[in-house]
Amino acid sequence: MTSKTNAWQPMLAQAFSNIAALCDYLNLDMADLPIPENKLDFPLRVPRHYAELMEKGNPHDPLLRQVLPITDEYATYPGYSQDPVGDLAAVVQPGLLHKYHGRVLLIVTGACAIHCRYCFRRNFPYNEQQLSRDTLDNTLNYLKSHLEISEIILSGGDPLLFSDERLSDLIQQLNSVPHLKRIRIHTRIPVVLPARITPSLLALLAASEKKVIIVTHANHGNEVSPAMATACQALRQNGVTLLNQSVLLAGVNVDGETLCQLSERLFNIGVLPYYLHILDKANGVGHFQTAEAHALALIDYLRQHLPGYLVPKLVKEQAGEQHKTPIF
Ligand SMILES: *Cc1c(COP(=O)(O)O)cnc(C)c1O
Ligand code: SF4
Repeated sequence: MTSKTNAWQPMLAQAFSNIAALCDYLNLDMADLPIPENKLDFPLRVPRHYAELMEKGNPHDPLLRQVLPITDEYATYPGYSQDPVGDLAAVVQPGLLHKYHGRVLLIVTGACAIHCRYCFRRNFPYNEQQLSRDTLDNTLNYLKSHLEISEIILSGGDPLLFSDERLSDLIQQLNSVPHLKRIRIHTRIPVVLPARITPSLLALLAASEKKVIIVTHANHGNEVSPAMATACQALRQNGVTLLNQSVLLAGVNVDGETLCQLSERLFNIGVLPYYLHILDKANGVGHFQTAEAHALALIDYLRQHLPGYLVPKLVKEQAGEQHKTPIF
């Protein structure tokens, strides 16, 4: 069963925020790990549920690698920047990005349940660029005056960290835009804090007149837990379409077997692979980079081993393009 209460809020508060405590929990000696000594500008944040999916005593665990700050983050790599995909140039209202035809993306909140070291928005100026009660009217006016917009993407940060009350209010307001057809939510919550998928959240999603799509962000098969399966089953029963996107991350998921297993496990819980992203070149993430030729070889491996519907589309995001760029 999904949890009945708002138990997810204390769970969030109990997330690991201290590297020593996380290492201690995982039976790892901090002194053996290349942990930066300075104060982090992007702090550690790891929900207990996510840490429980890691293998104890393994400093190379693919989930640990996604969240553990290491000194490599402070290396500089050519071609990396603060805003690698041109998000700021696409801002049409505070927190509202209109880059592609028919779709807008709304930064609902800057907060996340987990801090992923590879995050391309880790340097994003959330203070100026997120939804607030003051900007909601302007956002709605923008949507209403652009008849070609059929889909709004709720992003962040993690939109499912919004309270049920604020989410419900937002969805009701969006339901008042006649030409809008779909509300898409990009979230890492089903992976990292599945207890947040509560009956009241399910009820408010089910109440939406617009179709709801949730794109989960799992990068490795070990993230697909029984609790995520339960949450996804409940979401599907409430009419939500489930897709997944992943990022290619060196040291985490850049081999064919790992990606096959991820697609298989996602399908088993009712989630279809959507995108496999080439890493966006944000400052601090260069050590996760994989050569594009290797990415192509991986897709080729997936095509040889999986049915077509379990092969995600390999894409990269290039500033100024009309859509994400497919790589064949
Ligand atoms: C990725 C993205 C979208 C959605 O693109 P799809 O190809 O429809 O998934 C929309 N707006 C912005 C700003 C994006 O970065
Ligand atoms: S925005 Fe997404 S990728 Fe970035 S830290 Fe938050 S959950 Fe992770």
